[in-house]
Amino acid sequence: MEKLTQNQRIHAIVFQENLDRILKIGGIFTIVEIIDLILSLMGVFHDDIKVYILIVLAIHFVLLPIIYYQKKLYYVHIRLNAILEKVYFVSVMTWGTAFTVLNQIKQGNLTTFALVLVVLSMVVTMRSEYTTLLMGLNNVIFLSIGNLLYEETYFTTDIMFTSIMYTVIAISLSRQFDKQRFEIKRNHIMLQEQNEKLENLAIRDSMTQLYNNAYIHDFIDKSIKYCNTQKGPLCILILDIDDFKQINDTYGHLFGDEVIKSIASMLKYRSREGDIVGRYGGEEFMIVMPHIHNDITAKIADRFRVGVEELVFSKDVKVTVSIGGACLEEHTAMELIELADKNLYEAKRRGKNRVVIS
Ligand code: GH3
Ligand code: MG
Ligand code: MG
Repeated sequence: MEKLTQNQRIHAIVFQENLDRILKIGGIFTIVEIIDLILSLMGVFHDDIKVYILIVLAIHFVLLPIIYYQKKLYYVHIRLNAILEKVYFVSVMTWGTAFTVLNQIKQGNLTTFALVLVVLSMVVTMRSEYTTLLMGLNNVIFLSIGNLLYEETYFTTDIMFTSIMYTVIAISLSRQFDKQRFEIKRNHIMLQEQNEKLENLAIRDSMTQLYNNAYIHDFIDKSIKYCNTQKGPLCILILDIDDFKQINDTYGHLFGDEVIKSIASMLKYRSREGDIVGRYGGEEFMIVMPHIHNDITAKIADRFRVGVEELVFSKDVKVTVSIGGACLEEHTAMELIELADKNLYEAKRRGKNRVVIS
């Protein structure tokens, strides 16, 4: 999927919504015109089959399926969506104009001309340059064709002014709709982004961007429910940096912070999808693994231990971690954490830089 700028995202949504509206209104339009056609064929309307019905049906039969499939390709074909909505816009506008010139103008009636412009300005919102250009051009064509086809008596100054007035109203309506829709979408996207940021602030540790203690506890509670229904084990690992106090005392707290951040990225990098890595406390990390078999937990834990051992720090400092792990099938969060803690203590007691799991 392409990476989009905020403006492109807004346009993509606006295009998409235009296509949605076109599909709905176009669908209704098609049904009405088909009924009109059938009634004409049955002779209910006592006049010839109208060419303009066939034209509008052809436009809809060709464009609606393409638009329908475009809808499914959201974000992928922004350009094609943009072209499609304009093609639809021009087709329907041309049809409305042609219908008015051929059918209604004889009675001095501009209803379809006006209706099509107003409906289009609400259904298809576009940048005002486009609507001004397209609707303006349409008005010029309308007046020219009318003058060519009919004598002065039919194409009066009255009709000229009325058509210009409808065009101006439609352009102004379209501008307002487009501006409002764009604004609403922009606010919506900004709110979404701010919500994501706030959510992240609430569940992540600011120094390492790992999950924080509160989130880990939430996640363990959820995982216990999940594992109980799946009748599988839930495993957790607690990692504690060995002799970290000494590292801080010897190289300073800023260096200590760098160590914590490097270990955090390594853990995140080496963890599996579905597991979560969090900063449990100052120099302690926790990994929660809900989709795991008991026998490979020790292997995974040792991969993390070796991962820390292999990290390269300035001043040739070597850092190691001890890991306490616990895997339980029927358990409470408290039992699980207490067992992992006990094993961590045992790993320290046995000389550090090792894994103890039960
Ligand atoms: P052990 O091998 O038994 O774990 O010894 P230790 O020195 O690592 O254990 P201890 O709990 O005595 O010390 C942990 C130290 O971690 C104490 C604290 O100052 C330091 N620490 C905790 N959080 C941070 C942090 O965010 N940054 C830095 N630089 N140090 C931290
Ligand atoms: Mg500690
Ligand atoms: Mg420690």
